Amino acid sequence: MASFADILLPVPIPRLFTYEVTAEHVDKAEAGRRVIVPFGQKKVLTGVIVQTHGTKPENYEAREILDVLDDQPVIVDQQLQLIQWMASYYMCTPGEVLNAALPSGLKLSSKSMVQKHPDFDPDDGNHTYSDSEWKVVEALEEKEHLSYDEISQITGVKNIYHLIKSLSAKGAILIFEQLIEKYKPKKERRVRLQASLENDLLALEALFQKLEKKEKQLELVMKYLREVPVNELKERNQLGLSKGEFLSTGLSTSSLGTLVKNGVFEEFDKVISRFGEPKKKEAVIPELTSLQEEKLSEIHGLFEKKSTVLLHGVTGSGKTEIYIRLLQQVLDEGAQALYLLPEIALTAQILRRLKKVFGDKIGIYHSKYSDNERVEVWNGVLSGRFPIVVGVRSSVFLPFNNLSLIIIDEEHESSYKQYDPAPRYHARDTAIMLGQIHHAKILLGSATPSVESYYNAVYEKYGLVALETRFGEVQMPETALIDLKDERKKKRMHGDLSPGLLQAIEQTLEENKQVILFQNRRGYAPYLHCEDCAHIPKCANCSVSLTYHMYRQELLCHYCGFREPLPSHCEACGSAKIKTIGFGTEKLEDDLKVLLPTGRISRMDYDTTRTRSTYEQLIENFENGEIDVLVGTQMITKGLDFDHVELVGILDIDRIIHFPDFRSHERAFQMMTQVSGRAGRRSNNGKVIIQTNNPEQPVFHLVRTNDYKRFYQMEILERESFHYPPFVRMIRVLFRNQDKQLVWETANHYLKSIQTSLGGHRILGPQEPLIARIRNQYHQEITIKLEKGGISIPKAKEFLTQKMEELQQDKIFRQTSVIFDVDPQ
Ligand code: ADP
Ligand code: ZN
Ligand code: ZN
Repeated sequence: MASFADILLPVPIPRLFTYEVTAEHVDKAEAGRRVIVPFGQKKVLTGVIVQTHGTKPENYEAREILDVLDDQPVIVDQQLQLIQWMASYYMCTPGEVLNAALPSGLKLSSKSMVQKHPDFDPDDGNHTYSDSEWKVVEALEEKEHLSYDEISQITGVKNIYHLIKSLSAKGAILIFEQLIEKYKPKKERRVRLQASLENDLLALEALFQKLEKKEKQLELVMKYLREVPVNELKERNQLGLSKGEFLSTGLSTSSLGTLVKNGVFEEFDKVISRFGEPKKKEAVIPELTSLQEEKLSEIHGLFEKKSTVLLHGVTGSGKTEIYIRLLQQVLDEGAQALYLLPEIALTAQILRRLKKVFGDKIGIYHSKYSDNERVEVWNGVLSGRFPIVVGVRSSVFLPFNNLSLIIIDEEHESSYKQYDPAPRYHARDTAIMLGQIHHAKILLGSATPSVESYYNAVYEKYGLVALETRFGEVQMPETALIDLKDERKKKRMHGDLSPGLLQAIEQTLEENKQVILFQNRRGYAPYLHCEDCAHIPKCANCSVSLTYHMYRQELLCHYCGFREPLPSHCEACGSAKIKTIGFGTEKLEDDLKVLLPTGRISRMDYDTTRTRSTYEQLIENFENGEIDVLVGTQMITKGLDFDHVELVGILDIDRIIHFPDFRSHERAFQMMTQVSGRAGRRSNNGKVIIQTNNPEQPVFHLVRTNDYKRFYQMEILERESFHYPPFVRMIRVLFRNQDKQLVWETANHYLKSIQTSLGGHRILGPQEPLIARIRNQYHQEITIKLEKGGISIPKAKEFLTQKMEELQQDKIFRQTSVIFDVDPQ
């Protein structure tokens, strides 16, 4: 009976592919193992077996698996379930999800190789060969196959494409694809005694006599036997010693070579971990306060009845301490836990705390790590080496098989949503599904929960635990508002700083305390403006103005990276009267250096933290008190815990409050509360000063009184009356093309095809998004709102996909690229 396997391939085609499993592979073909299969005319791909069976599909065109790569599954059943769910929920293909899930070190790439044609006869007189061609032919007599690089080396020809084409046309060579495994285990060269010596004392004695005059060799043998006492513990010899360490005290490399040649020692390779060998570590867990203890048991109680619990704990209340307790319990039970963070670089501090307790039981999964490191974390999860994983959104893809707890810290963070490429998933929502697949418990934590999660808690879909006081009874900071309109009228502003804020900064520095200033805009000024003709320099590729970066003397597009030197004259009218409008972190830093000549000012934003180390250095300097004032974007709002910050200034929040998006109030509330939470975490003197043009806005009062519940009540009413999540599910369909007219037509055609069945009231658009052109591509978007209960959301998604497939049949419309973004942020 023939045997078949359904294979998941990393291609954007929404189905599995069936291949035949030949007798030689039958034993190894098992779900979850990777295979190599032919695809299309000349490609080979790495895929994953989803299932094996004996049913030949209809219209089957014979194709065989070329090889099974793994001796055991690298993808577990729960992952396959998650991949299927994500593909249907986020309206993409399982192949796209697989592509995102597998670290690239587990994907194979193919590399072209050449070999001699079996029928090739150089003397048949049919062809003549150039010198370079002869060199290749001769080399192929010596070596069975050559890579393109090798051919280039042998011939000295850089562009060998013509050479290969010509040799192939003359029937001299064949080209084939060799598959390259990208993951390379890290190996260590080690040394040990030949096995014959480890059992034989007489032979060892004879060896000593023979080496009597050969001091250096003798020294080596003696040192080895001191470290590895083979006469007492002969098994220890198998492991040997690291060659590097063995020779590190200045022993002779060449003598070791002689001893290897003479059969005394042997060298061998051992695969070692990039993260060092596991060490045993005793956990030190701080005592919980009685309130924290009480909340921990509340969480346990709720987990009896509910799979998901929301921990709403004010900033500095000790949420992380509670997480540590829960993680410890998982470890004691021998199960697995996943701790999700929105961005690891931004939470190095939390990681340091966790490492202190869990040592190297923690695997860290992050896109800044190398491919090889990521494969090792992947394999470490499979093998049980890392029972706890701390990671960013992509760690939901790891091969957990016994997950009992997922912690989603700062669950409100919008960086949990992936925007590009597909799958455009929300890691919080995906992790909740992952938890359900594993029957694991899920804890969401935040000082400012998302409206959606709090709604679920209010309606008892989730359990809710509230931790309302800071650790050590520390008071929440006091918040003051400064009316900018008023200050400007009185002409009292120092640039963009009000006198009240400036005084507070000066006073804080006098007391040797630190200040954080929050300005969510990088660069010097968001745009330039000609005073004579009002011209504003714009990006050549996008419909946005260029941001002025003073340090580089450049205008920069924050959407596509386009840059140009700072103009000295207006490009429209030639006037030299060019003015900067608005301000970013760079200008703020610059102004402060003038206003506070003795203060030590630093800036933390995307431009000053390009690498992990620069980021960590800044944090460390701030922790050590080498910086007085830290100016930064939303980067400084997240999860940081400093002892000496007493004052937080919030500069340009109006822009965030008035941003045209249904989440803008939520964002503003979260940002202000989070950054305020950095003030006075140890003292009782935390102060927050907010500068605004509209102090009457209710959101300020809510931040001041730290009244999350009231914020939620107001916000949820708005969401209900204007039909926004959590009352509806949103799907955004984004159309992109270089041709403005064509994008518009495509979007309208799609609209017509869905309007009648879906109901016009559920559809908004097509319309130009706020930024209508990015990278020379014009955009149009359609927003679909599906109310809960009135319509089957999975069916609606299927319908939308089907209509899109129909649209893509059209030769013209298919030129426009289309993206579905489910639950857009
Ligand atoms: P959150 O995560 O809620 O912002 P943290 O867990 O970071 O709060 O706690 C704030 C600070 O208080 C941290 O420096 C933490 O070490 C300290 N802390 C909290 N709970 C305890 C405890 N039970 N024992 C000792 N220190 C604690
Ligand atoms: Zn001008
Ligand atoms: Zn641009």
